Amino acid sequence: MTREKIITGLTKEELEHDLLELGEPKYRASQVIEWVYNQRVTSFSEMSNLPEELRQKLSLIYRITALTPVHDSLSNDTTKKYLYQLQDGRYIESVIIPASTNVNGNRSTRQTLCVSSQVGCAYGCKFCASGLDGFARDLEPSEITGQLLAVEEESKKKINNVVFMGMGEPLANFKNLMHSIKIINAEWGLGIGARHITVSTSGLAPEIRAIADQPLQIRLAVSLHGASDKVREKIMPINKKYPINDLIESLQYYNSKKKHKITFEYILIHGINDSEEQAKSLAKTASSLRAKINLIPYNKVEGLHWERPPETTQKKFLSILIKNGIQATLRKEKGHDIEAACGQLRLIKEKSEMAQKITG
Ligand code: SAH
Ligand code: SF4
Repeated sequence: MTREKIITGLTKEELEHDLLELGEPKYRASQVIEWVYNQRVTSFSEMSNLPEELRQKLSLIYRITALTPVHDSLSNDTTKKYLYQLQDGRYIESVIIPASTNVNGNRSTRQTLCVSSQVGCAYGCKFCASGLDGFARDLEPSEITGQLLAVEEESKKKINNVVFMGMGEPLANFKNLMHSIKIINAEWGLGIGARHITVSTSGLAPEIRAIADQPLQIRLAVSLHGASDKVREKIMPINKKYPINDLIESLQYYNSKKKHKITFEYILIHGINDSEEQAKSLAKTASSLRAKINLIPYNKVEGLHWERPPETTQKKFLSILIKNGIQATLRKEKGHDIEAACGQLRLIKEKSEMAQKITG
């Protein structure tokens, strides 16, 4: 499977280039793109302003989408999880987190899609379902944009916020990530403003610098989960490669290049990283980097023994951050009942597993 064969993995310029090579005028690319992203057609035969011969030619060279919808499940809190099959038979999941009431009591129009960037994950964080069964492969740009197109098609809702917090480490798939973001962000494409696109990373310091160097104002979330090397190392193997100081240096560089604030994600795991000492240390780091903090009570993963701390501990941890002048929130979990919450998306290896998922 090559990327060039799927329209939704190409930028407008790339499609123009391709069509010129096929001996077609450039404006045909705009027409095709209008059909794909505005009219949302799924076959070339529907592109009625293209000559029949060209429609035939294109349908031999390209596919429009890369994903086949398999299944969806709705949570009690209206979060919905979608399962897609890729062309090589593997599976990925995406989660839509629809509008809810915001802190001011107003109804928000935000439709957030949590997208996957890889099949599985190679980073093996000890608390996360996505890394449990290892890594299979990177997603192609079309497999990333395809998640948005497919969910919009099924839900009839316009996604206006994208978070790369599904399966995989997005910064380990840097080239395809940035390529897909170009298409997600483009006016001619999915039209989502860069400030409404968040990339979450477990802390790949060199790629954090690379994100800082690229021009788009996309947001960065960093999964910290431990305020000292000793604690972080226990649960995140990547800390051996990029210890907290290296990570901080890359974030200082990021801050020197970008105006918006970094967000630290910090899962609260009972007895592991929820002490007052960790809270104070976290506050110090966040303050030096002007970072916001998103506390996430640990979501249970089948087969793992970690627990979330009691609510009193969670609130105490939050209050220490706030007392130290940090902008921090304690996230209300969503989608727990359908295993769609953060860290609950896991690699599906076998057909039987998938069947189990669908029936169970
Ligand atoms: N690989 C990237 C993005 C995907 S994970 C990263 O690690 O940032 C998205 C978020 O879910 C991360 O902050 C991750 O640490 C968090 N997460 C993983 N397992 C979790 C769990 N069981 N409960 C709560 N959050 C979890
Ligand atoms: Fe991979 Fe992120 Fe899960 Fe760690 S938390 S295993 S980096 S998906």
